[in-house]
Amino acid sequence: MRSTTAWTNTRGTTDLELLPLERRDLRDDDIAVQIDYCGVCHSDLHAIPAIPGLVPGHEFVGTVTEAGPAATRHAVGDRVAIGTVVDSCGACRNCLKGEEIYCLDNWTPTYGGLDRVDGAVMQGGYSREYVLNARFAHPLPHGLAPESAAPLMCAGITVWAPLRKANVGPGSRVAVAGLGGLGHLAVKFAVALGAEVTVISTTADKEQAALALGAKDFILTTASQDAEGAAPLEAKDFASIGKENAENNNRFDLIVDTIPFPHNLDAEILMLDLDGELSLVGLAATTPVNNLLLLIGRKSLSSSAAGGLPATAEMLAFAAKHGISPDVEVVPSSQVKTALDRLEANDVRFRFVLDLSDLD
Ligand SMILES: [Zn+2]
Ligand SMILES: [Zn+2]
Repeated sequence: MRSTTAWTNTRGTTDLELLPLERRDLRDDDIAVQIDYCGVCHSDLHAIPAIPGLVPGHEFVGTVTEAGPAATRHAVGDRVAIGTVVDSCGACRNCLKGEEIYCLDNWTPTYGGLDRVDGAVMQGGYSREYVLNARFAHPLPHGLAPESAAPLMCAGITVWAPLRKANVGPGSRVAVAGLGGLGHLAVKFAVALGAEVTVISTTADKEQAALALGAKDFILTTASQDAEGAAPLEAKDFASIGKENAENNNRFDLIVDTIPFPHNLDAEILMLDLDGELSLVGLAATTPVNNLLLLIGRKSLSSSAAGGLPATAEMLAFAAKHGISPDVEVVPSSQVKTALDRLEANDVRFRFVLDLSDLD
């Protein structure tokens, strides 16, 4: 086994402990990566209390330090970017379509699950070294700074996927609900794709940031964070659904909702135009939906989890070409608790990135 160190959940809180960690010896098609920068994702906050012994972190950029004999894709010294999935069967119909994250035969998450080959517990990127199948490490394109590229590998691909699935381009009317790590990248990507973008937020002081990111409009919503909080629609409301009865109804072709907790969706569904789509990509968990609202206007509710290897490569190339990178606050990894606590308090514009060089 290989030895490294990692910020580890030993207390069930954000007060992670720096402990030794063993990584597997390289398989023939593995590479070892020195992790340089790792983004702090909202999923990490969800996972820490749920998984004792966890090392979080599933969006990182590092440098190849060693390669197995069959891992010829990368050379030692290459910069690589790694996201939320690090192995899959490669043979099922979803893998053959390049949708490895939807592998039908036991894909391997970067953390929070088991390695599909040997069943070992996967530990994430709040660590100085990672070992993975070389197929799942993307070459970092020229023009992307490593520290700001790290969050593209979860936050970036998570919002890129619904934009591409909906064929967003010039003339598309896109709204982004929630302006955090995911949301601010959704705005940047949608603007670069040519869409007219609106931000929906419960935080009034995010309007200026939304417009600075390229949004054309800002909707301050009072939408309840309590999914059960809004009054349920009744039959008598049916006739009014779909009428132009509020200034923001029937405005959008796509809403990318990045809000990472349960919330009421009624107002957002009403904002969709005919055949509009509401894509929930934050971890909103159990959120009630009134299908009357979807029915009038033939609207769709969808979701997705990051993306496969081809989509991720496409996203990285697009980001490099258009100069898109997340707005990040880089901190030494020793400040991981502060970063997690401030993320939980919604006090970051827009993504924390840990610099792991302090683990040497
Ligand atoms: Zn994530
Ligand atoms: Zn598969």
